[in-house]
Amino acid sequence: MQNKYTPVILKSGKDQSLKRFHPWVFSGAIKKIKGPAAEGDVVAVYSNHDEFLGLGHYQIGSIAVRIFSFTEVEPDIHFWREKLQQAYRLRKSLGLSDSENTNVYRLVHAEGDGMPGVIIDFYNGTAVMQFHSIGMYQIRMELAQILKEIYGDKLKAVYDKSEKTIPFKSKIEAKDGYLLGHSEATEVLEYGNRFKVDWERGQKTGFFVDQRENRRLVEEYSKGKSVLNMFCYSGGFSFYAMRGGAKLVHSVDSSAKAIDLTKENVELNFPDDPRHEAFATDAFEFMTDIKNKYDLIILDPPAFAKHRDAIHHALQGYKKLNARAFEQIKPGGIVFTFSCSQVVSKEKFREAVFSAAAISGRQVRVVDQLSQPADHPVNIYHPEGEYLKGLILYVE
Ligand code: SAH
Repeated sequence: MQNKYTPVILKSGKDQSLKRFHPWVFSGAIKKIKGPAAEGDVVAVYSNHDEFLGLGHYQIGSIAVRIFSFTEVEPDIHFWREKLQQAYRLRKSLGLSDSENTNVYRLVHAEGDGMPGVIIDFYNGTAVMQFHSIGMYQIRMELAQILKEIYGDKLKAVYDKSEKTIPFKSKIEAKDGYLLGHSEATEVLEYGNRFKVDWERGQKTGFFVDQRENRRLVEEYSKGKSVLNMFCYSGGFSFYAMRGGAKLVHSVDSSAKAIDLTKENVELNFPDDPRHEAFATDAFEFMTDIKNKYDLIILDPPAFAKHRDAIHHALQGYKKLNARAFEQIKPGGIVFTFSCSQVVSKEKFREAVFSAAAISGRQVRVVDQLSQPADHPVNIYHPEGEYLKGLILYVE
């Protein structure tokens, strides 16, 4: 054992997943911690036979260590600069960082970019960071500085939005705020569609960046259709549908703020367009009486399960929601249905949707399978990172 970090020794046999580069060490896998380890500290993980496995951030909780390197490195500013540059290079190669019609994308997707515990979304010159681990949170100023080096004048501000995401057991009282510069809610472009994004007051980092490609697909399916966009948040699916030639679009969200945002965004893209109407109401209530009203229904609910013990309940929710759509959609209709719950697997989600189809008694066919976009990459050794699942279904 050569490095200066507190050694964390695993129980016999618990080294296998790390040898396959899975980046999480669960607390139950630890045999002993040989020295001081405060929350957020860098620790060195070893097998029961003193074999070095990785360096990571220590945290009190079920995931005790999040590994950021499987080789012995010095996690200094050069190390993190290289990580952020790698993340940036991927977005550049995807054409996202200098696209003319899209200036909103995810720059860092936690484990998917080898940086467990942090996500960074880029909004037309403002980077919004959200931390889930203390270790990453402690180096937030360094990360902000590196972003400035990478983007230069293209970066106006860095906003930290971790107040609600830093583990509540930690003593750190995170406050949302600017780490660098200052910027107000701004307009962004996604495939040429205009969105107002307010990272200070909005949900998540301000916008659901992860539905970009699926919103674009809705555009292709919308010509001449009556569209229902359930759980619309800032309305994206709605105005993609309008651009695709929908004859009517209804947007629904239980949050009045989301409905205001939807109206504002629809207005930005299609001023005074009578095809659109928005409703601030509960999804399940709205869907009690929509028989034969819509040709295309989008179901993009919030994560019904945030923890493993809520999976059963979540599956019931997906079943009920999808059954209502299948029962009432016009013959020959299309349903876009999603789950963003990380703990609900693709298979389980499918089973819930299939049960819903059976309940409805309609003939339902899968015509496409959807996931998250390329700027939300999945670390191949960490399948949990694939959290967004969707199906396009044709209802006879
Ligand atoms: N489709 C959106 C993202 C949806 S996020 C997009 O493309 O940006 C989920 C949304 O569901 C949130 O806006 C939340 O306010 C809303 N929501 C949560 N529970 C709801 C309910 N019971 N009925 C209607 N909307 C609900």
